[in-house]
Amino acid sequence: MGKIVHVKSVFYTTTITVIIVSFVISLSLAFQITTSRQQSIHQINTSVANLSHTLDVYTEGIMRQSEMLITTISDMTEIYGMIPQQAANIQRMMKNQDDLLSQINNVIIYDSRGDVVTALHEDFSGRRNSADRAFFIYHREHSGKRVFIGQPVISRTNGKWVITISRRLETHTGDFNGVAVVTLGIENFLALYGQIDIGHSGVIGLTTESGVLLIRYPFKNNYIGAIVSDSPLFRKYLKVQNSGIARSISRFDNIERIYAFEKNKRYGLVTTVAVSTDEAMYSWRKQAIQLAVLIFIFTVVLIVASYFLYSDLSKKHKMNKELAAAKNVLKQANEELKVIASEDALTGLNNRRIFDEKLLSEIARCAQQDSLISVLIVDVDYFKRFNDNYGHPAGDRCLAQLGEILKKSVRGDDQIVARYGGEEFTLILPHMGNAEAISLGASIIREVNAENIEHGFSPFGRVTVSVGISTARAVTLAGKEQSIVMSADNALYQAKRSGRNQYAFVAG
Ligand code: GH3
Ligand code: MG
Ligand code: MG
Repeated sequence: MGKIVHVKSVFYTTTITVIIVSFVISLSLAFQITTSRQQSIHQINTSVANLSHTLDVYTEGIMRQSEMLITTISDMTEIYGMIPQQAANIQRMMKNQDDLLSQINNVIIYDSRGDVVTALHEDFSGRRNSADRAFFIYHREHSGKRVFIGQPVISRTNGKWVITISRRLETHTGDFNGVAVVTLGIENFLALYGQIDIGHSGVIGLTTESGVLLIRYPFKNNYIGAIVSDSPLFRKYLKVQNSGIARSISRFDNIERIYAFEKNKRYGLVTTVAVSTDEAMYSWRKQAIQLAVLIFIFTVVLIVASYFLYSDLSKKHKMNKELAAAKNVLKQANEELKVIASEDALTGLNNRRIFDEKLLSEIARCAQQDSLISVLIVDVDYFKRFNDNYGHPAGDRCLAQLGEILKKSVRGDDQIVARYGGEEFTLILPHMGNAEAISLGASIIREVNAENIEHGFSPFGRVTVSVGISTARAVTLAGKEQSIVMSADNALYQAKRSGRNQYAFVAG
């Protein structure tokens, strides 16, 4: 029972240890995953913020140059008047800045009716009047020399998408006198944005202060000029800060993105750089999945290992139990064997082997105290005839009966009765002199006669025994212990010769 409790407690200890170890490892890995997620997000935030800032600086540079250009043109127009020859002046000036302003699509001066007075590129495919354009309407309606950035339009010179940067022209008295406009091709912006790695689902956008989408990379026709002023960026974030990080789901493609936004202080243009959350977190997610799989495998291995450990322990325990049981059986068998080896099966008396052992040990014991020892040999008379006439089983019963008589004739502790072989019995009688031995022999003969076992083929009519008696000083028998048995045998021979059913004595 104690061992069962032990195996069970080992099982519980192992199980609890497995659970605790798995839990601790899972916890620490979960912590690591969370930490690395935060790190990934931080890195993404930093890189998109840096990008949006860089692009904001770039856009501001272009806008400043465009502004400088139309300011100069406006000044020239106001000084020299609005004449077609201005084109030559403007072209000359442009040439000097050509390298710097590769983004410039056209520079156009309109009069107060919206008709083209002059342009850097004169090859208009469409109409030469822009009274319908938003920038023209804006300047006609608003006094002041503030630069206006209009929504994207399709150029009437080359049919490309352009952004307009415009300024109001005034007469000396401050009346509206037309508009000077620089158009910037958005393809140049797109080319630049295209060089920036923002992944497959990344988006870069440039929006006016009022929420008109000027440029969106990747380019899509119907995104251009879209009004995004109701997006969370305009409704929420830009209300409280000029730059920052946000996360939202795109209205155009339903992809969740992390984006950085930066509103230009001078022009109000909002640059956004967005990366898909899924894509940005891809490497983190991959690592997290790998770790999760690792935890899973580890836990499974741990559980399997502990299961085997437990089943091994139970097996060992079972084996131990079986071994103990086998030992018990063996012990019992040994004890039975010992009895078989020492006992005569028919009579239950000591056998010849025990007789030989006891003869030696009792002689030695008596020799130590220098006392006498006697040996009796009891032989059944005419037993062959008994067997031959009454049968062997009857002979056996008779021998068993005689065995009982002999058992009763001796004192328990140190006197020994044995079946010597066949129908012969022997008695070892330590510390017994000849007188006592003779009287014991005589009493045995009497007892057997008194038993009155019928033997119709014996002259006595019943079963009788003859007894050979010998007594010796034990010390004289040292080294020749069997001699006292031989003396008793000689005495037995004499008793037989003298007529049987009597004893004889021969000194040992
Ligand atoms: P004596 O009076 O001279 O001793 O004659 P006896 O016939 O007793 O002696 P003998 O030695 O000629 O015969 C012994 C017989 O004892 C032979 C055998 O039939 C019988 N005997 C020996 N051992 C056993 C036994 O275990 N069981 C039975 N039933 N008979 C046995
Ligand atoms: Mg005999
Ligand atoms: Mg006999």
